[in-house]
Amino acid sequence: MATSQGSNIANHDRLVEIRRRIDTAAIAAGRRRASVTLMAVSKTFDADAIRPVLKAGQRVFGENRVQEASRKWPALREQFSSVELHLIGPLQSNKVGDAVALFDCIQTLDRPKLARALAREMARQNRSPILLVQVNTGEEAQKSGVPPNSADAFIRLCREECGLVLAGLMCIPPAGDDPVVHFNMLGEIAGRNGLAELSMGMSNDFEAAISCGATMVRVGAAIFGVRRKDPS
Ligand SMILES: *Cc1c(COP(=O)(O)O)cnc(C)c1O
Repeated sequence: MATSQGSNIANHDRLVEIRRRIDTAAIAAGRRRASVTLMAVSKTFDADAIRPVLKAGQRVFGENRVQEASRKWPALREQFSSVELHLIGPLQSNKVGDAVALFDCIQTLDRPKLARALAREMARQNRSPILLVQVNTGEEAQKSGVPPNSADAFIRLCREECGLVLAGLMCIPPAGDDPVVHFNMLGEIAGRNGLAELSMGMSNDFEAAISCGATMVRVGAAIFGVRRKDPS
């Protein structure tokens, strides 16, 4: 099928270009290239669109829905080794079991009930996905994430009450805001809580995020092309 093959080649080329821009931004910020991980956000795209990106060597992927990821990734993981799958969408308590079973990293830990459910389920399954706390840096009502002024207390609760090991923080700045304000806020919260990982920066602002210390950038459209409308 000419059209689908054409778009697959485009995905490969776009991935190479994003990697080049990440390297350039890291070096401009006086950082090592290897200090920034690229997550390819494959939500809404099917296996045919994802495979060429895997073939190009990309191994870290992000999905925002547990069910969609469970449909797509088990088969892809049989074809490609060492895939690292990250959950970047809101996690409902009733999907915690599936999420712990499927994901290598959960970036959307944002409330005590979820922290307790994760702790229980991780013990039950004897699996320890890497955990990031999502901070709602713009305090947007419609967005998940712990409000910035509750972040320290929530991090303490995760660690002390739930015994969770946290790796870092994630944020999604409000559309239209200068993202740098939000990236810096996330960096400050991480710094005072001894958290190393900063998941921030998407297709439109990943270079700015890298200059603010992002250790992981989450890039979707710039690799896979424009998404069909995401019902979330
Ligand atoms: C969709 C999504 C991205 C990727 O956004 P693009 O603008 O397509 O790069 C990154 N992070 C989260 C949490 C997302 O939901």
